[in-house]
Order: sequence, then structure tokens, then C-alpha cells
Amino acid sequence: MSLNHVRPWRDIYRRKSRQIMVGNVPVGGDAPIAVQTMTNTLTTDVAATVAQVQAAAEAGADIVRVSVPDEASSKALKEIVRESPLPIVADIHFHYRRGIEAAEAGAACLRINPGNIGDEARVKEVIKAARDHNCSIRIGVNAGSLEKHLLEKYGEPCPEAMVESGLEHIRILQDNDFHEFKISVKASDVFLSAAAYQGIAEATDAPIHLGITEAGGLVSGTIKSAIGLGNLLWMGIGDTIRVSLSADPVEEVKVGFEILKSLGLRHRGVNIISCPSCARQGFDVIKTVETLERRLEHIKTPMSLSIIGCVVNGPGEALMTDVGFTGGGAGSGMVYLAGKASHKMSNEQMIDHIVEQVERKAAELDAAAEAAE
Ligand code: SF4
Repeated sequence: MSLNHVRPWRDIYRRKSRQIMVGNVPVGGDAPIAVQTMTNTLTTDVAATVAQVQAAAEAGADIVRVSVPDEASSKALKEIVRESPLPIVADIHFHYRRGIEAAEAGAACLRINPGNIGDEARVKEVIKAARDHNCSIRIGVNAGSLEKHLLEKYGEPCPEAMVESGLEHIRILQDNDFHEFKISVKASDVFLSAAAYQGIAEATDAPIHLGITEAGGLVSGTIKSAIGLGNLLWMGIGDTIRVSLSADPVEEVKVGFEILKSLGLRHRGVNIISCPSCARQGFDVIKTVETLERRLEHIKTPMSLSIIGCVVNGPGEALMTDVGFTGGGAGSGMVYLAGKASHKMSNEQMIDHIVEQVERKAAELDAAAEAAE
């Protein structure tokens, strides 16, 4: 449950899952919902891949996945892991050898479907490598690559087939006494994904990795993910998320955080509340918000800022934010601190002034948090 229980209409009751570790990041149980992304560089280009991992870390990612399609990538993975500030998940498809190599290279988790990597002996080898190297496993069921026997049984990809596939893979790990796993049941269709996730959430207590696969470009993929992941998270389902976008991994992290922030599930950085602006605006709201978003990217402290064009909504929004600015008349507006009108500021100096106020407030909140520890 969130801390919003004084407002019961905001409560989210999180599904109880087991907790596993992905490197030093706990996933499941009462751990914060972890945000993931995936690199799209060639894994063999270590410098470019590490740069992407670092940019994702800077944007707030907790875990990063890297594809390991061949032996050269397994070799590169070792260096990437060494230089990465975050735990690395190795994405493996079909090649059991890559799974073993990735575990040996220091991957924190293997994304691999044990039912798709060959006979029992091979499966056992991969599980042994994972166990020996403290590596967890993500079972990644995908509607687009369901096993033949399930497609024959169900006729087409459907939630029941996806859940059954997931449970079959889970059984293989459990039969080998391996329990450090999480699971995803992704589809590019929001309805199919959501139904499959609800099914798997009821059928297992494994931590759940949420994602809508191949969601699309920045705008369409963001909307699709916000609807799909947003609904599931609202139901309390999901322990780690990845927003899949045909865009820079940093955008995936930003969108992931925005979804969690919208539901009050995680907080990071400045949550800007701004009006769409209209003829009443006392200053250029759109340009100001664009500039502030850029200039406040470095703030990691969770806090809120309202930037509102006029007094119609400005004072009301400012009541609930740490820092606020409301446009007025004659080229200036009112600055609000902790919900109270504080002082006037000219439109020209307002951006620098707000950045200063936010930085000051962030330092204050950090100091208070430190003192409370
Ligand atoms: S707050 Fe004022 S400027 Fe902003 S949209 Fe509403 S009426 Fe327009």
C-alpha cells in the first residue's frame, strides 16, 4: 500500500511476491518497483554500450539489459559488467552456451526460457552456471514466440496459452530447485498482455517483470505502455518494469519513472505540474516548462513544482507543491513556497529564480532525509 492511505481512493494494494536479487537490486516483495531499460548498441562495441548504460543510470534506471547473440558478445559482456554502475541482465535466445557464458561473465540475471534451450542436460548446465555465479533468471514469455504445442492446443496466442507457457518454464526451474527467478508475459497487444499478466499473477508468487513488447515510437509507445503497465500497476501487479520504445533507452527510463510517479509508486526528481496555457497566461508557459524540465534534470530529490499561467488555477495548484509560480499581470508573477504566496518575481528573471528555489528546496529535503536516517 502506498503512503496515501489518508486518501483511500489513492491506495494501491501491491500483490505479494517473493523477493529475488538482480545483482544488488532487490526485485519483488516490498522492494521499490525497479525500472529497467535495454541497450541498443552492438554489445561488441563495449565503449558505446557502457556509455548507454551510464546514461540510463544517470536517468534513474536500476537495471539494464544487454543482448548476447554470439560468443563475441559474451566476451564483451565481461568488460561491460566490469564497467557498469548497474546490474546487467543478459538477453539470451535459444543458445544455452550463451547463457553459461553470460553467467560466467558476471551477468546479474539471464533472460532465458529454459524450455527453449534444448534437452534436460543443457538446461541443467545453464541453471548450474546461474547458481554458481549468483545469477537470477527471468523467464520471458512472449505472445509472438509461443511454443508450437501451445499454439496447436489454443489455436492462437491467448492469455491461457501464455500463462501455461510461463508455468511450464517455471516448473523446469523448480524441478531443478532453482527459485531465483522472475517472469514476464509480454504481448504487443495491451488487452492480451494485461490478461496474461493477471493470470500469471494469480498462478505464481514469483516477482513479475512488466512490459508491453514492441510498443512503438516515443509517443504511441508511451501511451500504450502507460495504459497497459499503468492498469496493471494500479491493480498492484508488477515488481519491475521496462517500457519498450523505438527510442533512446534514456527515454524508456524517463517514461517508466513517469508512469510510476503518476501512480505514486515511486518518486524521483521534480514533478512539474503545469497548465496547458491559454489566452489568459501571464507568461509563456510552454517555453518556460520546456526550459525548466531541461534545467532541473539534475535534481534527483522527489519534489513538486507548479508552473501555472494565471490565477485561475495557480494558487490552488501551488497549495500542494513545494515550489510554485503563478503568472500575474504586468510582466511578473507570484512565487509560492511550501504552498504559501511568498514574493513577486519578474517574468524575465523567473526561470533562474525558480531553478535556484528548487535547488535550495532539494538541498533542504536531502539534509532532512539524512538527519532522519
Ligand atoms: S491556468 Fe490560466 S493560463 Fe493556464 S490554462 Fe488555465 S486559465 Fe489558461
